[in-house]
Amino acid sequence: MSDLLTLNEAPGQHAPSWYAETAAPFPDQPPLLGAGQADVCVIGAGYAGLSAALHLAERGYAVRVLEAHRVGWGASGRNGGQVASGQRVDQVTLERMVGRDLARAAFRIGVEAAQLVRDLIDRHGIACAYRPGVAELAHRRRFDRAMAAYVEKMARDYDYHTMRFLPPAEVRGLLGTTAYSAGILDMAAGHLHPLDYARGLARAALDAGATIHEMSRVRRIEPGARQRVVTDAGEITAEHVIIACNGYVGDLEPESAARVLPINSYIIATEPLPEEIARGCMREDIAAFDTRFVVHYFRLSPDRRMLFGGRESYGYRFPSGFPDAVRARMLAIFPQLAPFAITHAWGGTLGITRSRLPNFLRPRPGLLSIGGFSGSGVAMATMAGAIAAEAVAGRAERWDVMAALPSPPFPGGTRLRHPLMVLAMIWASLRDRL
Ligand SMILES: Cc1cc2nc3c(=O)[nH]c(=O)nc-3n(C[C@H](O)[C@H](O)[C@H](O)COP(=O)(O)OP(=O)(O)OC[C@H]3O[C@@H](n4cnc5c(N)ncnc54)[C@H](O)[C@@H]3O)c2cc1C
Repeated sequence: MSDLLTLNEAPGQHAPSWYAETAAPFPDQPPLLGAGQADVCVIGAGYAGLSAALHLAERGYAVRVLEAHRVGWGASGRNGGQVASGQRVDQVTLERMVGRDLARAAFRIGVEAAQLVRDLIDRHGIACAYRPGVAELAHRRRFDRAMAAYVEKMARDYDYHTMRFLPPAEVRGLLGTTAYSAGILDMAAGHLHPLDYARGLARAALDAGATIHEMSRVRRIEPGARQRVVTDAGEITAEHVIIACNGYVGDLEPESAARVLPINSYIIATEPLPEEIARGCMREDIAAFDTRFVVHYFRLSPDRRMLFGGRESYGYRFPSGFPDAVRARMLAIFPQLAPFAITHAWGGTLGITRSRLPNFLRPRPGLLSIGGFSGSGVAMATMAGAIAAEAVAGRAERWDVMAALPSPPFPGGTRLRHPLMVLAMIWASLRDRL
């Protein structure tokens, strides 16, 4: 498999994002040199690994985090910043997939995940420009009725009242585009500066007593009563190991690799927009995404740039023309942005599963793997870290709910699964145009 940890960026360099340019500084953490010990070794310093480290350190465990690059270098430092409430899969589909009881338990955890993000921000004073409100927008009129019915169902069956239906007239009032008809606005969801949030979690984990080693790529995990986690320059022996590598897991652990497939998504940022243009595009400070399978997602930054994302390729290397391709998509929705320059463009790798439900796996005793958040991991990866910490501490109720959700291996083995997925994605993106 191509090595996504080294293919698209130089070692230790953040993607050239607007986030990397504007995040509050964070001190370099020392690489692992020589042999060390821990109760728990966490691999990966994204939201999942950092949240696991924070919650474990708060419980009194000796924790070491090993990160190949920098804190928040992966998807966690460069995503769309949208904090979803609930699961990535809607509850109608989820009930069909797993039955009502498990669907309800999973939804509750998904709502708690968004609440956890808000609590961590408050508790640890993380300055990451959190704002409430995310709208899902119908790119075809035929979805309008189902959206209205979904809001009613969520209030009736789930006692979930933070969501409301946006009829087409209201969508037109909120957004300066004719590209969408109806929508759903959820005020329990929100958006934030992803790298500032990741660095805030790292600061909280350090304050709680965890150790973070940057520039410390794990090469292998050797089983045993005390497992050995080996990097090029050192090793940690630990009773528990948590793999939190998501789309970058590569061949580190075969069962996770079989279930979590990397795909790339791309974001552009415009120059700061004049107030009337910015507010003409988005009247409120909410974030938005649409019903396309190859989803478009956008919001305004606090300095009034349009941050616009959309997936454009399924090869591992970021294609050189991606900024133009994403810009074309943005202009199809907001043609009024044509005169404004694109100042930043970056790609990132996320992990998807076949079911689009996260992958909570225990490949063997003492080894936990969390990933596959399928484009909805700001809240859920944070929650996965907290749940993994609970499981290490012997409280597995929420782990068992999440592990019961299906995330089967991709067909085709490691050699064929990527080409098969590419075909499926191309088919799905063609359907978006129907
Ligand atoms: C462009 C883009 C837009 C997105 N938009 C949204 C959004 O708006 N809302 C949302 O909820 N989700 C979004 N996502 C998804 C979300 O960012 C992820 O689900 C989430 O950040 C996953 O966190 P994580 O900690 O599991 O993984 P990551 O943040 O990817 O962290 C994994 C870390 O593991 C490290 N690592 C990997 N292998 C090793 C190794 N062998 N040794 C040591 N370290 C290793 C990597 O360097 C990396 O830092 C988006 C993703 C992308 C790429």
